[in-house]
Amino acid sequence: MKTFGKSFTQQEAIPEAGIEAAIEVMRSGRLHRYNTLPDEKGETDLLEIEFSEYLGVPYVLACSSGGYALHVAMQAAGVERGDKVLCNAFTLAPVPGAIHNSGAVPVLVDVGEDYCIDLDDLDAKAASSKARYFMLSHMRGHIVDMDRVIDICNRHQLFLIEDCAHTMGASWNGVKSGTFGDVACFSTQTYKHINSGEGGFLTTRHADVMARAIMYSGSYMLFDKHHAAPPVETFEQIRYDTPNYSGRMDNLRAAILRPQLADIETQCQRWNQRYRILEAALGKCSHIVVPERPAAEEFVASSIQFSLPGTAADVMRQLVKNCANQGVALKWFGDAEPEGYTSRYDSWRYIADMPQLPKTEAILSTLLDMRIPLTFSEEDCQLIGEVIVEVVDSMMGAE
Ligand SMILES: *Cc1c(COP(=O)(O)O)cnc(C)c1O
Repeated sequence: MKTFGKSFTQQEAIPEAGIEAAIEVMRSGRLHRYNTLPDEKGETDLLEIEFSEYLGVPYVLACSSGGYALHVAMQAAGVERGDKVLCNAFTLAPVPGAIHNSGAVPVLVDVGEDYCIDLDDLDAKAASSKARYFMLSHMRGHIVDMDRVIDICNRHQLFLIEDCAHTMGASWNGVKSGTFGDVACFSTQTYKHINSGEGGFLTTRHADVMARAIMYSGSYMLFDKHHAAPPVETFEQIRYDTPNYSGRMDNLRAAILRPQLADIETQCQRWNQRYRILEAALGKCSHIVVPERPAAEEFVASSIQFSLPGTAADVMRQLVKNCANQGVALKWFGDAEPEGYTSRYDSWRYIADMPQLPKTEAILSTLLDMRIPLTFSEEDCQLIGEVIVEVVDSMMGAE
């Protein structure tokens, strides 16, 4: 019996340059976002400028979390109590949570066999719900056909918010994820592509949206201290109309993120090398399906998903246990009971008029998920793939 011994929650250390910059911030005592010397740009300002250059979007706000960015994105876009917001049924809890936090009501859209949002269902539900907002979660880094998304948004006049928690560094047809929508939100929580414990970004090309987001983030009347921000005239009315929700990132976290952002492309390649090894190893098992990814999708695989079509729930549950016994931590998104970081849409019971989504349930019922921390070597990934295949074949018969 093959076994694997490393932790699936162990991320890499913060780069030394980040540790040194963080110590410098602590020595200075100037941790707060506006606690800068005259003409000094603090770490948070610099991070926003660098992220703006990296993404090619003029306005960037560094936030206290990805969930905060999603919430403020909706507020800044004008979402009002009771408004409907289309979103993926297959996503993680911060997404419907952010919609709820805005007083809005999620309209859940089915997942497809490729683990992306089902665009036919989106089109139909955009028409039937008359929603004006769409929060698209690039869940687990799977990027749906963005050309069709834009077409659907244009036809139904949807305001598009991209949830890029799993696509920092990814592109569709050479265009960066997060530049398609009206607004994009990123997370820098420990398990995302750059790690500050908690944190995130809100990015946009719309001056008024960013002006409101900056006011919400707790700028008091210090908005003119922002650099990746619209001109001060934009704030003329907005500064009176927008409440303070205090949620901008502090200089300490920004300090540890800057060297990680500088290194993101290398990290993305390292994730994908590991993914390709796992994909090939799992591909040797006739029971396992790893959906082929479109050529247009330049993804970043910080996790891997695969399905075991036709497998019953009790077998799925046992399979996860057997893999765990051999040291491989899989998550099953189909479990009726929320576990670990997974939860099926029907466990978000605060959503009024919860729809029945049999197609989504069928796909999630055999869908497994695994994190790929960069502390795993390529050899580790080969071994993990072999463990999974061994377990699956021993339970379902090798062919
Ligand atoms: C992590 C995550 C977020 C944001 O989460 P925070 O922990 O608040 O930064 C949003 N969407 C998805 C799909 C996520 O996985």
